[in-house]
Amino acid sequence: MFQSAALKLTIWYLAIIMAISLIFSGLLYRVSSQELAHNVNRQLGYFNNFLGPNDFNAYTQMRQRQLDEDTGNLRASLVFFNVLVLAAGGGASYWLARRTLTPIETALVAQSRFAADASHELRTPLTAIQTENEVALRNPRLTKDAAVSLVKSNLEEVAKLRTLSEGLLRLANGAGQRIDMRPTDIAQAVKQAVDRYAKAADNKNITITRRVPAGMVIGDKEALAELFSILLDNSIKYSDPSTKVSITSRSRNKRTEIKVADQGQGIAAAELPHIFERFYRTDSSRARAGSGGYGLGLAIAKQIAQLHRGYITVESSPGKGSAFTVSLPAE
Ligand code: ADP
Repeated sequence: MFQSAALKLTIWYLAIIMAISLIFSGLLYRVSSQELAHNVNRQLGYFNNFLGPNDFNAYTQMRQRQLDEDTGNLRASLVFFNVLVLAAGGGASYWLARRTLTPIETALVAQSRFAADASHELRTPLTAIQTENEVALRNPRLTKDAAVSLVKSNLEEVAKLRTLSEGLLRLANGAGQRIDMRPTDIAQAVKQAVDRYAKAADNKNITITRRVPAGMVIGDKEALAELFSILLDNSIKYSDPSTKVSITSRSRNKRTEIKVADQGQGIAAAELPHIFERFYRTDSSRARAGSGGYGLGLAIAKQIAQLHRGYITVESSPGKGSAFTVSLPAE
């Protein structure tokens, strides 16, 4: 599909280049041949006064032949020039067409991969719901307790689906997202995230320490709170009970850096480059039943950071813990 689009575009580009070249050559030919004829006429007028009729006739014929030759040469040069333009223009047009289409092609491939990944992820909870319900329906002696536990299990799967669809929506909207950029106190955004996760941390007896002094960045408070929530959520999810999570900040090179560090399971070096990819989950987190999401959190966090002209870096030692640092331009 892209090959034929590239060809069509090449033809269009080439047609435009050739039209310009032909118009330019036509004009050049016209002006130059007029100029040549004008010169010949001027010279003939001049020699008319000195030469006798016979010599003048001979001279006129010679000048006419020269004029025909010159205009012929001009025509040949212009034809040669246009053939050159056609050949070079063809190559350049194809290159330009490929360059124009490549970003569109990349976006389209990414979009269809996104749709494929999303449907793959949706299938698991949907299959679980379907199987459980079919088995229950086939059981003629389904007790009330079994029915209640089925409904509970269904609701759990529905909750997962909801989380997944919210994450997908967040990612899909990413680029066109309306964020309200204004001077924002980073300490407030961090506090909002910590408040959100205080209970989850408490449930695992995890202590969160927050040392983030007030500091202004240009950003959307809600989006930044979401970014820190994702990091905090992971720190709690992938840490053992009774460990510590710390959030600290510092200013460096006109940037504000906020670090979320935990004493959790850590991430293997080989997996570090992939954790910001959509749907990527490390082997250890996949193995831990019930602890994980869908591998969308860090992809969303990265998107939010990029919308703020920032980035996230990570350091991690398996078995010891991880530290995610968000770097944002200071106001
Ligand atoms: P998920 O929703 O599965 O947590 P994320 O995109 O937030 O997805 O994270 C991707 C993967 O990176 C996780 O599945 C987990 O394996 C790993 N990860 C992220 N944060 C941490 C952390 N603080 N400690 C250990 N592993 C982490």
